[in-house]
Amino acid sequence: MLEPFDAAATIVAAIHALPAVDVPLTGCDGLVLARDVISPVALPLWANSAMDGYACRTDDVARASADAPVTLRVVDDVRAGAFPQRPIGPGLATRIATGAPVPDGADCVVRVEDTDGGTEVVRIRDARDAGRNVRPRGEDVGQNTVALAQGTLLGPAQISLLASVGAAWVPVHRKPRVGIVTTGDELVPVERFNEVLAGERIVSSNSYGLAAQVRSAGGEPVDFGIVPDDERAVREAIERASACDLIITSAGVSVGEADYIRRAVETLRGKLEFWRVRMRPGAPLAFGSVRGKPWIGLPGNPVSSFVTFELFARPAIRALLGAPHAAPRRVQVVAADAYAVSVPLTHFLRVTLEAAAHGPPRARLAGPQASNIMSSLARADALLIVPADHGDMREGDVLDAILI
Ligand code: AMP
Ligand code: MG
Repeated sequence: MLEPFDAAATIVAAIHALPAVDVPLTGCDGLVLARDVISPVALPLWANSAMDGYACRTDDVARASADAPVTLRVVDDVRAGAFPQRPIGPGLATRIATGAPVPDGADCVVRVEDTDGGTEVVRIRDARDAGRNVRPRGEDVGQNTVALAQGTLLGPAQISLLASVGAAWVPVHRKPRVGIVTTGDELVPVERFNEVLAGERIVSSNSYGLAAQVRSAGGEPVDFGIVPDDERAVREAIERASACDLIITSAGVSVGEADYIRRAVETLRGKLEFWRVRMRPGAPLAFGSVRGKPWIGLPGNPVSSFVTFELFARPAIRALLGAPHAAPRRVQVVAADAYAVSVPLTHFLRVTLEAAAHGPPRARLAGPQASNIMSSLARADALLIVPADHGDMREGDVLDAILI
């Protein structure tokens, strides 16, 4: 049996980023840059004004005051998106809007509040903006320099920057398609809840939870439906799912009598790299490949399914996306509760986080930790890691957690 973080590292190491494709800027959210993006322009493109006011020469306004205002002749008026028509010499000023290019010869912008707002001549009554309020060309991004590096995960801020440097198409790794095969004779979709009420079936909550997890990890879920506990049906579904970039199966991977998944993988001449991980919840977990595609066999228990997805499938999807640090991100927390562990396995506890006045956030148990309790998972902010050799958790213990 593997330790959980060794198992996650094995999975990440076995998975390669998908091929690069160019996608429109509007379609790159959540994807990862496959190449550096070099900016063809300086940003800002021109020295421009940080204020609404008057562009002029520092020498002219350095001694302006309320008692001794300075009068300049206004020769031009420039807005953002237009170019100044006149250079600025001694005694001259240009009315200027925030973001508009600063005319040649001007080296500062006096804010409009420090003037009389004149259009022919302007009286300046404060020197505080002398030498200020000009944003230099290229201060944000230099021309022909790397605007964003390969491996950058693209979100709102990165997408704004790409737009600013004119990147209408973006080189990214293709979005992973993740096939989800849910198994179990007892399962029905939520539309058949009347059968659940009749005591005949249970809802396949994993079908919905896993699809949402795949989406939040940056993949596109492809649902291969609920498959009965029948080796042939399972085999056919897994084979269909192997058209995807990653295969996730749910349940049927334990030592129970209905353990069809591993047999189906064997019959497909797939590879089983490992099975079972020393952790709670979620010990039965399989990793291997089918038809050359990575396969992760998650346990059926909904809490275990969620936790093992976060530990193993999310990193796998991040690796397919081309993210350089695919392993689960850990943060340090301080335990605000005690918890007695019953077996020497790595425990992942459902906790809520609270900011502390000093030091790391405080982690409180989100509720009962039994593997059937979904509500404590739904309340949790993080999974607190109690390593196998740590023993019982005491209040005040400093431990790592994975944000969920
Ligand atoms: P198994 O791994 O098939 O033994 O399933 C373990 C437990 O998880 C059983 O109680 C199943 O009913 C439950 N389970 C399996 N699959 C799902 C699913 N898709 N949604 C919710 N519960 C499930
Ligand atoms: Mg089952």
